[in-house]
Amino acid sequence: MNLVRATWKSLLSRALDALAARDCRLCGCPVEGGDMPLCAACARDLPRRTAPCCPNCALPVPGGEICGRCLRHPPAFDATFAAFDYVFPLDVLMQALKYRHHLPLARFFAREMARAPLPPVDLIVPMPLHPRRLRARGFNQAVELARPLARALAAPLALGAASRVRDTVSQTSLDRAARLTNLRGAFACRRLDGQRIAVIDDVMTTGASLEALARCLKTAGATAVYNLVAARASGIGFS
Ligand SMILES: [Zn+2]
Ligand SMILES: [Zn+2]
Repeated sequence: MNLVRATWKSLLSRALDALAARDCRLCGCPVEGGDMPLCAACARDLPRRTAPCCPNCALPVPGGEICGRCLRHPPAFDATFAAFDYVFPLDVLMQALKYRHHLPLARFFAREMARAPLPPVDLIVPMPLHPRRLRARGFNQAVELARPLARALAAPLALGAASRVRDTVSQTSLDRAARLTNLRGAFACRRLDGQRIAVIDDVMTTGASLEALARCLKTAGATAVYNLVAARASGIGFS
């Protein structure tokens, strides 16, 4: 699909969403108050992450200590913060964000993510998409989460700091070891000496993409990398 068609598809999808914006995305009941994509009851019942979890990878761990996996294989990132568990209905909402370009959902998730106890950061870096995928989809959901977060966290959005230079095959059918191999050389970063970076993404599953990006950022001179994601799949370990 060429860029013009992708852009029109994106604009049409956004216009349709705007027309439907007054119904809750989950239950369909009318929503009071401007930008909210969900009714108050559905928003309240979302699976927020409250269980103690590993500070490195955000996997639930009794006592909230560093998990065995992170002890055995310390990740390149320094901490992970997730607003929600990646269970129903987050899967439904993420599909709506990713493939239907539902921007009010991005702003809603960003408001929830901004509550994370993130240490001070110098730059906000969204998980980059390969340009070919960006042209096909017309939209990078991580960028749409990162825009309002940059305002909320009062840190600049660094869209050009990291890029995806290799279009990797879909990760979904691969185990973690294969994912990391698949991601070798996938990212490139400009020099980031002394920078503390918040990496923004929609969903963390195995964390292989976040690990590969963090390695690249650290190699480029970043002193700290914190993952801030909308949802974390709890049953899947980082390594
Ligand atoms: Zn609802
Ligand atoms: Zn961990």
